[in-house]
Amino acid sequence: MIKFLDLQKINLLHQAEIEQKLLDVFRSGWYLLGNEVKLFEKNLSAYTGIKHAIGVANGLDALRLIFRAYIEIGFMKKGDEVIVPANTYIASILALSDNGLVPVLVEPDINTYNIDISKIEEKITPKTKAIFIVHLQGRVVFSAKLQALAAAHNLKIVEDNAQAIGAEWNGLKTGNLGDAAGFSFYPGKNLGALGDAGAVTTNDDELEQAIRSLANYGSSEKYVNIYKGLNSRLDEIQAAVLDIKLKYIDGENAYRRDIAKKFISEINNPKIILPENPEDEKEHVWHVFVIRSQNRAALQKYLTDNGIQNLIHYPIPPHKQKAYKEWNELSFPITERIHDEVLSLPISPVLEKEDVDLIIDVLNNY
Ligand SMILES: *Cc1c(COP(=O)(O)O)cnc(C)c1O
Repeated sequence: MIKFLDLQKINLLHQAEIEQKLLDVFRSGWYLLGNEVKLFEKNLSAYTGIKHAIGVANGLDALRLIFRAYIEIGFMKKGDEVIVPANTYIASILALSDNGLVPVLVEPDINTYNIDISKIEEKITPKTKAIFIVHLQGRVVFSAKLQALAAAHNLKIVEDNAQAIGAEWNGLKTGNLGDAAGFSFYPGKNLGALGDAGAVTTNDDELEQAIRSLANYGSSEKYVNIYKGLNSRLDEIQAAVLDIKLKYIDGENAYRRDIAKKFISEINNPKIILPENPEDEKEHVWHVFVIRSQNRAALQKYLTDNGIQNLIHYPIPPHKQKAYKEWNELSFPITERIHDEVLSLPISPVLEKEDVDLIIDVLNNY
């Protein structure tokens, strides 16, 4: 069987380095807010080219903290609106509703699966405070037009960069395209920890200060609380592991690109819709490789019967979730179509060349 994602094998790529580091942290007696977190923050900041990187407990917290900090520093208030793609992972939406902000859903582009930038302007109202872009599947969504739109309406651009670490637009890394970005290092992400972890990046000093405090009980000085904060710290063990794996992320993303290129050039079956390659290959890090089929259930069964594990990212769009029952009657046809048709194939830095060939053969015989 070809696994969808072999996390054990992915982490064993760096076994010796990781085991030594785990032992060092264990023996150090210092487990939170120490040198490992500082070092990882410094290296993530250098890697992305962004002034500040703040380690936090997970990706959802990274996003929640950005919006919470914008509220604390007075840029936003409860009831304000934030534009967000309708087909995103639920975490992007939760980060807004958790802060009392109103998500304004916008349809994606059927070819890129990312927010359709041409449909943003019509959704801007006097209450809009930010455009929340999500580089879904590892593909950058950005343009000069988006930048100009945000500037013209005094909107922040916030990036959900959970799926696209290492992707680039015009030589700039994701996380450095807008005003602030949230990263997830969930084990299955392109840069994955051995548990939960996340980070925020920003060039904004005031926002950085607010996020650091908010993530540590709202205090910047021990026992002095300036905000009603939360506990969302990155621990030393996760930071140490991430700092090792960060050195290899570009190589691993390049390997994913090679697989994607081969899938796109060699899968040739009219029943299957392939993802579109961006003009600049650096704009995609292929967190997932998503195909579409009008009869997804049959394709899914066929792949599984042929020993190829696969997943659906995602089966139910946010507006059809019970958690957002106030939206259940809304209609987003492109989003709904995507959720009905998509299927993710295995792609990872440890997927063997023979397995790539086998997946291509199986799909061409479907
Ligand atoms: C994974 C993910 C998150 C949340 O990250 P966690 O670390 O699981 O909290 C947020 N947004 C997107 C798009 C994601 O894929």
